[in-house]
Amino acid sequence: MKNIIFIAPPAAGKGTLSDKICEKYNIPHISTGDLLRDEIVAQSKIGTQIREAMARGDNVSDEIVIKLLKKRLTSKDVKKGFILDGYPRNVNQAKAYEHLLEELNLDMGTVIYLEITKELAMQRMLNRVICSHCGLSYNLSKKELSPIKKGICDRCGANLKVRIDDNEETFSKRFDTYMLETYPLIEYYEKENRLVKITVANKNPLEIFEEIEKVF
Ligand code: AMP
Repeated sequence: MKNIIFIAPPAAGKGTLSDKICEKYNIPHISTGDLLRDEIVAQSKIGTQIREAMARGDNVSDEIVIKLLKKRLTSKDVKKGFILDGYPRNVNQAKAYEHLLEELNLDMGTVIYLEITKELAMQRMLNRVICSHCGLSYNLSKKELSPIKKGICDRCGANLKVRIDDNEETFSKRFDTYMLETYPLIEYYEKENRLVKITVANKNPLEIFEEIEKVF
């Protein structure tokens, strides 16, 4: 199984798609957003700093993120392949990641780029709730993407909640930050011949999942 990097604006559906792929292929889903949220929940030393940056819609510092990622990538379960969601978010992080892979003797794999307009992403974000325990994401505007029992996670039974950074103002800032800092990575990986582009538009997760499976 190839390692996969997902690059996409917020609320493009990379979390949901990653979960589906990981479940089917039995590989770990490594989301830097989740690693950071875990630090907030654990009330660790850096948790407050992370919470503040996230709530503002800013990126967390490259140093903090690479440190958490390095710790996660030293686990044995990544050897059979993994999905990286939310990292790298800028060219600096892409370069730090290349060094890290070399150090840990891991493969770069393929980069999947999910393309979505700001309007559609905003609409999805406004309907998003996530599980407070396992992080699974739901879209309340679509029956097939809603939980079976209102407010309860289908997978683990914990309560669902709205993310601290899911509001119009913060979202708009996150999207603009993505265009400014993350979008240049498309060209970066295109030049390296690693990029697969998938347009989200009004496709459902299953249709996108099938397109992605063709890449494997
Ligand atoms: P996500 O769950 O990917 O939507 O990320 C949520 C928030 O976590 C972002 O808005 C950033 O504040 C932070 N974050 C996640 N990944 C990174 C990263 N690679 N670099 C910096 N900040 C990150």
